[in-house]
Amino acid sequence: MEDTILVVNCGSSTLKLAVFDGAFRVRASGLAERLHQGDAVAHLRHHDQPVKLPPDASHREALEAMIHALVDLDVIQGTPSAVGHRVVHGGETFHDAVLIDEAVIEAIEDCASLAPLHNPVNLSGIRATRALFPSVPHIAVFDTAFHQTLPRKAYLYALPYDYYRQWGVRRYGFHGTSHQFMLTESAQRLGKTPATTSIISAHLGNGCSIAAIRDGISVDTSMGLTPLEGLVMGSRSGDIDPGLFDFLKTKGIDQDQLHHVLNHKSGLLGLSGQTNDMRTLCELADHGHEPSLVAVEVFCYRLARYIGAMMASLDRLDGLVFTGGIGENSARVRKQTLDHLRLSGLCLNAELNQEHGQNSDGYINDADSRFPVLVVPTNEELVIARESQRIAASQE
Ligand code: AMP
Repeated sequence: MEDTILVVNCGSSTLKLAVFDGAFRVRASGLAERLHQGDAVAHLRHHDQPVKLPPDASHREALEAMIHALVDLDVIQGTPSAVGHRVVHGGETFHDAVLIDEAVIEAIEDCASLAPLHNPVNLSGIRATRALFPSVPHIAVFDTAFHQTLPRKAYLYALPYDYYRQWGVRRYGFHGTSHQFMLTESAQRLGKTPATTSIISAHLGNGCSIAAIRDGISVDTSMGLTPLEGLVMGSRSGDIDPGLFDFLKTKGIDQDQLHHVLNHKSGLLGLSGQTNDMRTLCELADHGHEPSLVAVEVFCYRLARYIGAMMASLDRLDGLVFTGGIGENSARVRKQTLDHLRLSGLCLNAELNQEHGQNSDGYINDADSRFPVLVVPTNEELVIARESQRIAASQE
């Protein structure tokens, strides 16, 4: 029977599955959306096949239906050799991927107060898949683990120290699997080993974060206690003045409302009043829609500031790396961002930038740029599959 690794990624209303063979090639992938919302749909991408779900399907129901479809299609023969699960928050408990047992489940539950929207759904995926495949190793791969190397000066907020000691209030950082992938991929393109590579990695998707990686180790990142801090995102504000809470109270906006606004009504969506989708915003801006133009401007300026800030953590820069839907595809965002950073000597080649670096192993910088600039497509599922295989093999 061929080795297969199943990767399970449960979001708040979505479920992504991917099946890799022993050489880490994708054999199939699937996506279920609008779970728990009364109009759930699911689709297996590589076989272009819908999967029938009850309209109010839960994560467990979607997972079972999709896995049965994958077994029927012979993509999973019998059982997978390992199952890798994306888990958003590992707190300070998890510095690495880990084999899941009851104690690990309890520890993930303990971290749920730090990520109430994510860890419980991650756990429901873990429980459902363990019930389907009880005899295979299940591995948890944490978004936060890669950033557990942050030094104290980068992870502490300037708050009463007891908040950290008693409740773990600190910066954790997220998108760790993507930043880790950027490290290994860019090291390869730069002709170096990950352990001797120092990069700034900008993951720009619907969620956005940036990381400073020094000789293979994450030393600073823009997201904090939660994924709300840092860059402007699709519908999240990123950094704000905490004084806003008091001010908006005087306007009748309470904490629950503000929480909703900061997470779901801000960022590109809030500024433009139109959409969280960067491609659409760029089109609207081209047609003279001023609020969309402003949204793109604020997005790029904040990003440029953070790129500058990340330099404070590095003593050498081997490359600035763009990834995520926006980072990989938007030549405009990359240009507008680097236009702010002329003092740093980062300089794009207009033609390579326009081609998304496809013809040049990802390089988009000009020959006289002080540092290389690259575009590298991210692949979080692949990192989860590799990590799962590594942990499963270490148990044999
Ligand atoms: P992700 O969350 O990584 O899938 O990224 C989603 C974001 O990437 C959305 O804002 C999309 O509008 C953006 N995106 C995808 N393709 C393009 C493109 N060609 N130009 C600009 N933005 C894009």
